[in-house]
Amino acid sequence: VITFEEIQTLDAEDPLRAKRAEFCLPANTIYLDGNSLGPLPIKAKERISTVIDEQWGKDLIQSWNKNHWIDLPIITGDKIAPLIGAATGQVICCDSISINLFKLLASALTLNRERKVILSPADNFPTDLYMVQGLAKLVGNDRCHLKSAAPHQLLDMLDETVAGERYDIEKITQLAHTKGVLVIWDLAHSAGAFPLELDNHKVDFAVGCGYKYLNGGPGAPAFLYVAERHHSRIHQPLSGWMGHKSPFGFNPEYAAAPGIRKFLSGTPNILSLTALDAALDVFDGVDMRQVEAKSHALSSLFLELISQSKYLTPLECISPATCEARGSQLAFSHEDAYAISQALIDRQVVVDFRAPNIIRFGFTPLYLRYEDIWSAVNIFEKIIRQKLYQEPQYQIRNKVT
Ligand SMILES: *Cc1c(COP(=O)(O)O)cnc(C)c1O
Repeated sequence: VITFEEIQTLDAEDPLRAKRAEFCLPANTIYLDGNSLGPLPIKAKERISTVIDEQWGKDLIQSWNKNHWIDLPIITGDKIAPLIGAATGQVICCDSISINLFKLLASALTLNRERKVILSPADNFPTDLYMVQGLAKLVGNDRCHLKSAAPHQLLDMLDETVAGERYDIEKITQLAHTKGVLVIWDLAHSAGAFPLELDNHKVDFAVGCGYKYLNGGPGAPAFLYVAERHHSRIHQPLSGWMGHKSPFGFNPEYAAAPGIRKFLSGTPNILSLTALDAALDVFDGVDMRQVEAKSHALSSLFLELISQSKYLTPLECISPATCEARGSQLAFSHEDAYAISQALIDRQVVVDFRAPNIIRFGFTPLYLRYEDIWSAVNIFEKIIRQKLYQEPQYQIRNKVT
C-alpha cells in the first residue's frame, strides 16, 4: 500500500518539478486532459501581449520583416524538430493536421505514381480517414483508395499496392520501405509526450498537433515533417503564394520554394503561431527521456492506487498493460463514462470523454505532480463509491465532448 508520505517523496525527488511553475494553472484543478488542450504557459501569455501591443500595435506591417513574422513558420518548426528527432529545415508549422495531411497524402501519391492504396488503422483518428476519403473523391478511386485494417493486421497488409500508411515507428517504417511503401506518421499524441527519432528511423513524412502536448493554445497551428531526401522531388497541391520561391515577386506562374517552405499555402496565423513558439520554450533544458520516464511513473501510480480500492478495481482499463506499449494516457470503459467524466470535471478533475463509453486520463509530466494523481484517484473513488455520477445534471451532453 502506497502512503501519502511516499507520494510526497516522489514529488520532492522529481527532476521535472520546477516546470510546473512555468504554466498558468487554475487553483485546485487537476488537469488530466493536457493532450486535448495543453494548459497556458506563462511565456505564451507574455509573448502574445508583446506581439499585440508592440508588434501589431506599433510596428504594424513592418513586423513581417522587423519582427520576423515571415519566418515564424520555419523558426517554430525548427524548435519542434529536436523534440521529434529531426534535423533543422524539415519541419514547418502551419494550418491544421487535416490540411497538412492532405498535402502529404497528395505528395506521397505523386512521388509514387504506380501506387494508389492508402493503408490506415481502422481506428485511426477520424480526420485522417476523412481526408483520405476526400482526396479519393477528388482524384478518383483508381488514383487513391483507402484500405483500413485492424491495428494488429496492419503489418500483414503492407504490400506492393500500398502507397502510404501510418505504431512501432522504426519497425513499421522499415518494413514499409522494404515494400516500397511511404509512411506518414500522425504524431498528435506523441510529439511532446515522449522521445521520437524521425530522422534515425528514416521516416518519410509526419504531421503533429500544436495544441496538445506542445501547449500552443486552442487552434494552434499544426506542424508537418518531410524528410530532406524527398524535398527536391516532391510537389504539394495546395500551392499557395507563401510556398512560392518568391511570394512578393507576384509572378503568375507558381514556382515552389526550395525545401520545407513549399509546404506553406497562405499567410501564417501570427498570433497563434507566436503562442506556440513561446510555449515551446517550456521544453528548454528538458530531456524527453525524463518526460517519458515520469509519464510511465504517473500512469503506473494511477493504476496502483486504483488497484488499492475495491470500488475502482472492477473498472475495465482498455489501455495496454505495460507502459512501453501505451501512450501518455489511460482509458477506462464504463457504460456511464460520460456521466462519470462530468462528475469528475465538476470536482475539478478534468478528464476526456470519448464516445461511446471511454473515460480517458492523460498524464502530462511537465505540470502534473504525483500528489495530483493521489487526489484524482481519491475523487474518482468517491464518485464511484457514492454513485455521484447518477445525478441528473451529469447526464446532459454538451456540444464538444
Ligand atoms: C487531435 C488530433 C488531430 C487534430 O486534427 P486537426 O486537423 O489539427 O484538428 C488529428 N489527428 C489526431 C491523431 C489527433 O489526435
